[in-house]
Amino acid sequence: MSFFDRYTQLGSQFAVMHSPRLANSVNPEKLNLLLWNEDVANKYAIAIDKGQAHLYLSGHTPLKNSTASALAYSGHQFGHFNPTLGDGRAHIIGSFNDNSGNTYDLQLKGSGATPFSRGGDGLCALGPAVREFVMSQAIDALGVPTTECLSVVATGDDVYRESLLPGAIVCRVASSHIRVGSFQYLALQQDKKGLQQLLDMAIERYYPEITAQGDDRLVEFLRAVCKKQVALIIHWMRVGFVHGVMNTDNTLVGGETIDYGPCAMLEGFSFEQVFSSIDRHGRYAFGQQPNIASWNCARLAESLLMLFAANEKHAVERMSDVLAEYASDFNNQYQLMWANKLGLLEWREDDASLLSELLGILKTEGLDYTNSFAALTNLTFENPLSCFEVPKELSPWLPKWRARINEYNRSQVCALMRSVNPAIIPRNALLEQVIQDYYEQGQSKLLEHWLPLLKAPYQYQEYEQCYLEFTSKSASYKTFCGT
Ligand code: AMP
Ligand code: MG
Repeated sequence: MSFFDRYTQLGSQFAVMHSPRLANSVNPEKLNLLLWNEDVANKYAIAIDKGQAHLYLSGHTPLKNSTASALAYSGHQFGHFNPTLGDGRAHIIGSFNDNSGNTYDLQLKGSGATPFSRGGDGLCALGPAVREFVMSQAIDALGVPTTECLSVVATGDDVYRESLLPGAIVCRVASSHIRVGSFQYLALQQDKKGLQQLLDMAIERYYPEITAQGDDRLVEFLRAVCKKQVALIIHWMRVGFVHGVMNTDNTLVGGETIDYGPCAMLEGFSFEQVFSSIDRHGRYAFGQQPNIASWNCARLAESLLMLFAANEKHAVERMSDVLAEYASDFNNQYQLMWANKLGLLEWREDDASLLSELLGILKTEGLDYTNSFAALTNLTFENPLSCFEVPKELSPWLPKWRARINEYNRSQVCALMRSVNPAIIPRNALLEQVIQDYYEQGQSKLLEHWLPLLKAPYQYQEYEQCYLEFTSKSASYKTFCGT
């Protein structure tokens, strides 16, 4: 297997060669491979021996033919532009091609300070590393595009947060680390050549169907990115994922979920649900996610303007037309998503009242999003499971829904609902328990039982209640960023 770098060719210090903190450190026996994702290793045919993984995936031993680097990027954080972000605690240790010739990056997170650390320690505590390991696998299994997690290595060193915590290094596999903020960075440098190269790299990786040249190429690229963002956000809304920090530097132009910092799962249904402790105004609330993704696409559009041959007014008009398509594209797919969740093969105008009545009851009665749709799905089974029960508060609504789905073939309705409504999700309290287990024991029996279930979320089987339990405390659950 050969590794290479693909970002150092871009100018403007886009990728800065930089070694991880533990590179060739004298004390590798402290390193411990705590979590290893065999499925990811196999999927990408990553030829790193598990017995040596603690050395390579902590940054101690460099991968052959590759040089570690940290990437520069800018970004709008909570709406405010920050020109100098970048990998402050991450290193790309190499890129590789999988068996189909698609390129991926291996990136370490928590691997030490870089030129972009802005005073931060460059480290990651064990808890957030475990969170990323579990959440990224669960989100992948839910059918949502995402970066993946290969491993977590415990460093044996402490990290100073509110208290002293054990440190860890995550290894992430991503189809690229090209963010909206990457384009913003090169646009800010007025680096037209680098911007063009980055555009070509992104098109080659994600949108090879774009063959247009000149200004049309820019327009087609923006359109393709918008479509991928729409698809991603529809998935998030379908499964109840609240990302929590949808800054432009956390938005990949390939449309994959990245950065599992303050994310959490919606339990009690509410479009206003916010978990992140720093999101005081609900900018990234569950129901805000579609608008924010659109806003982020607009920031990408701005960054591309300088590449237009046409004058700025004309360029802005062309990009604005593409951005305007986002809303209608989103709304069409959003309706279809709700239709499918309800078991309807198509969306009709009068389905809006059926849906809003249901969501209204879920919200006012504080009912669980996943369990409610799973219980409806369960009603369509020949032999319903006993672990899912339709909440009594839905009784007045049920006959209306039944009348509507009776227009279709029952087995089709059942198959449809089962394919879009997960039975099991990474519930916030259970994830906290797993993290606690790792802090206290360096392992988690709970995770051993839970992870196989999370990896088959549409299986529908008799689950133990502990995996389905939703406590109303969940609404006040808080997550923390950059911890
Ligand atoms: P995030 O919220 O994880 O997307 O991080 C936002 C920015 O802060 C990125 O530029 C990170 O590299 C940087 N950052 C987060 N935590 C640390 C840390 N402990 N040390 C240095 N930089 C950090
Ligand atoms: Mg980030």
